[in-house]
Amino acid sequence: MIQFLVIGSGVSGLSLALKLASIGKVVVIAKTQLSDANSPLAQGGIASVTHGGDSFDKHIQDTLVAGSGLCNKEVVVDAVEQAPSRIKDLVQWGVNFDTCNLDTLSLTKEGGHSKRRILHVADKTGLHIHSQLLARVLEHSNIELKENLFAMDLLTSLETNPFDPSDVQCFGAKFLHSQTQQQITLLAQHTILATGGSGKTYLYTSNWSGATGDGLAMAHRSGAKLANLEFTQFHPTCLYHPHARNFLISEAIRGEGGILINSKGQAFMKNEHPLEGLAPRDIVARAIDKEMKRSGQDNVFIDIRHKSKSYLQERFPQIFMKCLEHGIDISKDPIPVVPAAHYQCGGVLTDKFGRTSIQQLFAVGETACNGLHGANRLASNSLLDCLTSSHNVYKHIGSKSNNMDISKAKLHTPNNEKHETITSEINDDELILVTHLWEEIRRLMWNYVGIVRSTQRLRLAQSRIQNIQNEIDQLYSHFHKHKNIEELRNIALVAELTIKAALKRKESRGIHFHMDYPEKNKTAINTVL
Ligand SMILES: Cc1cc2nc3c(=O)[nH]c(=O)nc-3n(C[C@H](O)[C@H](O)[C@H](O)COP(=O)(O)OP(=O)(O)OC[C@H]3O[C@@H](n4cnc5c(N)ncnc54)[C@H](O)[C@@H]3O)c2cc1C
Repeated sequence: MIQFLVIGSGVSGLSLALKLASIGKVVVIAKTQLSDANSPLAQGGIASVTHGGDSFDKHIQDTLVAGSGLCNKEVVVDAVEQAPSRIKDLVQWGVNFDTCNLDTLSLTKEGGHSKRRILHVADKTGLHIHSQLLARVLEHSNIELKENLFAMDLLTSLETNPFDPSDVQCFGAKFLHSQTQQQITLLAQHTILATGGSGKTYLYTSNWSGATGDGLAMAHRSGAKLANLEFTQFHPTCLYHPHARNFLISEAIRGEGGILINSKGQAFMKNEHPLEGLAPRDIVARAIDKEMKRSGQDNVFIDIRHKSKSYLQERFPQIFMKCLEHGIDISKDPIPVVPAAHYQCGGVLTDKFGRTSIQQLFAVGETACNGLHGANRLASNSLLDCLTSSHNVYKHIGSKSNNMDISKAKLHTPNNEKHETITSEINDDELILVTHLWEEIRRLMWNYVGIVRSTQRLRLAQSRIQNIQNEIDQLYSHFHKHKNIEELRNIALVAELTIKAALKRKESRGIHFHMDYPEKNKTAINTVL
């Protein structure tokens, strides 16, 4: 039996594995390659107070303001205060943050931050952190890595009580090998979901192709509580180009003086917020949405042409090169951008120690909702969250002994009783159906559950998603297990739950903007499903 089963090889999963490996054997799972994840895509950086001109109070305050009344203050204080220690962990693991001179960190500023406090490695912060963590993990004798294993469902004790999921215990998970289609069961004393976000529920997203909310779907099917799924953060500025898929133009570009303009060259953020292009992301995304609707244009632009070519090449090498590949020289041309689904602020509900409502099941990083982000994540607090939430799970698990006796447990996955009519392997023609249904969901979510919502659109989305789910159930019961069908089923469930959560929130708060309820309620309440 595995002591620690970590599902996910992003920054949260790998940093947790490195810590847990000091107390026991760890198995880390990735559904495709180890480096396929959102983590290596992070450009801007990681937030931490590192100098006397800044303070914990200011970082806490900025986080609470962005979170719009829904943050758990205890979690915020904890994350902000342990940030410098987690940065030290990273440095010990080999991360070299950019410096201005030998010993002064180069700090950038992003939307919603009152101070420069974002540590970065050019515009490849996530890639650098992830590759250093991976290198440490690969050389650790207590950590085993398994690629191409798709977690389908959690294994729990049979005593599932829908009214009190804390009765239920998790004993690991069931996997599908994505190449051989072989089904594998891994039993574990502690199961940790580090499965990342669900950006692929939307047509336009900055996320990697596997961000299908599998962790949320698995947890929900097993009866775990989820929270605040209506808070999908839309990044205001993804590259808009017919051949560029999911490429983000980091907020750091605006932090370094990039200005949002429309096709007439007007800086439209001036009329929207005192912080202009560096206002919190929800405000910038809505302003861009409004400007695009007002002008009838497909995109807006970021103008950073006032910076020298050499500066841009050195500070933003990745963005510079990517844009150039698409014929855009950012030292001469404004960068065409549109908003895109970027970050899931809600997730599997956990306490400060990463404990979910199911015993021995933990959640960390983007897949968890521990109260750090509230109704809107402050930029660059998410890599920090990966490290702090993992550290907290490690501290908690390390201080407890687990005397789980699995020999008497009857194991259960949510699909055992259903779908017994499987008849055949899915063929390529039928897989096209899966792709079509996926596209339908993503377009539906983009059009009806996007940056600006209304009851009418949400209800429409709800009834359509039910029909789509009926079709997916048919596919699911008819064909042998296949990764694409599993992912489709998961995005449909996440879409359904997101719509449900959005319908429940009859107010506008943080990133959830509801045309029929444009005001914020006096009391802030989490949406728990
Ligand atoms: C383009 C982009 C830029 C960003 N920039 C920043 C930034 O500058 N600063 C910042 O703080 N944040 C940034 N973020 C957000 C941040 O990168 C993520 O929130 C964070 O990296 C999430 O890490 P994670 O470990 O929780 O998940 P991920 O890194 O997404 O890892 C998820 C892991 O789970 C595995 N997995 C998923 N489902 C299954 C399954 N069914 N079975 C088995 N394995 C599974 C995957 O294989 C993967 O290994 C950015 C995000 C994007 C997309």
